[in-house]
Amino acid sequence: MHTPKPVALVIDARYIVPIEPAGTLVDHSLVIDDGRIIALAPTASIERDYVAQVRVALPTHALIPGLVNAHTHAAMVLMRGIADDVPLKPWLEDHIWPREGRHVSPEFVADGTLHAAAEMLKGGITCANDMYFYPDAAAHAYEAAGMRALIGMPVLDFPTPYASDADVYLAKGFAARDAFKHSPRLAFALAPHAPYTVADETWRKIVMYARQLDLPIHTHIAETKTEVDNARAASGESPVLRLDRLGATGPSFIGVHAVHLQPPDIETLATQQCNVVHCPVSNMKLASGIAPVAALAARGINVALGTDGAASNNRLDLFSEMRIASLLAKVATEDAGTLPASAVLRMATLGGAIALGLEREIGSIAPGKHADVVAIDLSGVDVLPMYDPVSHLLHVAGREQVTDVWIGGERVVDARRLTTIDESAVAARARAWQQRLQ
Ligand SMILES: [Zn+2]
Repeated sequence: MHTPKPVALVIDARYIVPIEPAGTLVDHSLVIDDGRIIALAPTASIERDYVAQVRVALPTHALIPGLVNAHTHAAMVLMRGIADDVPLKPWLEDHIWPREGRHVSPEFVADGTLHAAAEMLKGGITCANDMYFYPDAAAHAYEAAGMRALIGMPVLDFPTPYASDADVYLAKGFAARDAFKHSPRLAFALAPHAPYTVADETWRKIVMYARQLDLPIHTHIAETKTEVDNARAASGESPVLRLDRLGATGPSFIGVHAVHLQPPDIETLATQQCNVVHCPVSNMKLASGIAPVAALAARGINVALGTDGAASNNRLDLFSEMRIASLLAKVATEDAGTLPASAVLRMATLGGAIALGLEREIGSIAPGKHADVVAIDLSGVDVLPMYDPVSHLLHVAGREQVTDVWIGGERVVDARRLTTIDESAVAARARAWQQRLQ
């Protein structure tokens, strides 16, 4: 006699896009127990084999893996829209850095990160790669939100209210990492800001720690033409070749932007199996340029997608990032076949997981992985008709169609409402910060 196995949760969905393998499954169910996916099969066979404590029916939805925002400065959401339509140099020097100097504190980072987590969760982002001051305050906020995050331990070679020199930045970062070492959804990375703000001697220390402690290195690289021109004038090397000489490149290297690259840079990123995070909206808004994403992907380089901070975007919205990445690559290559929907959806999920070193844990809907999944309702008149769900997820649907989000099997968004965060309290804190920052 066949006895169905008791499990915590079964989700029946009209469409499931597992990413691995590519394509769409129709009328399948996902079985979740102890926070992990244990089966994915046609609904009829799941009904025979499992009995669920909780069963959720999604008759008009697509279920996708949680989106991975592979580069952000979450707390900067409190500076959203504070200086728009300003070029990068005055944007940083006249608007962002002076306000950071006056206002950034553990309280700012705690409030800003929780706010960003609320926005990201409601938009189907279940994991973020963050880089900002006071990583301990950020870690605390992600933990409270129930969100997965790779927390950057920031390093700069100049003083800020957070730290006086590189050694102090590193010591504070490691203290935060120690404090959260038992937090199951958090991990830490070394986050030197950029080649042009961190000197060789400090990079060597960072490389040593990365090797000793098996930590990823998360940094901005080759974002603007000025950065690359200045680097060449100073040392004759491009930023990518300089970091390669210093030993920073490798499969745990997460290079953000990578807009201004020469063929030897691309060759080095490929040979060293580096990861690139493409932030198309930030690059467009700050007029930095167009990253050669199609060329990077064609060379086998793993590409992930990021929003960057909300001050340079101004949304923490991977649906808009996916759509714009695809459109921008098409116009840049003058080829409508460049970056099709399936490739971009993969970048925003599995590509992000690979970049963060989490591809065995998240990034696709596969048995054994954490149950980080997102339901998108595709029944509205703004979406119908629908001939291809994957294409629709990219070119039609937006974060407004996200209805439910699970992380490790925990329902963190339930019928568009956050279950871990008091949204009205977050909004009240944002209004208070707006008064102070104006
Ligand atoms: Zn950034």
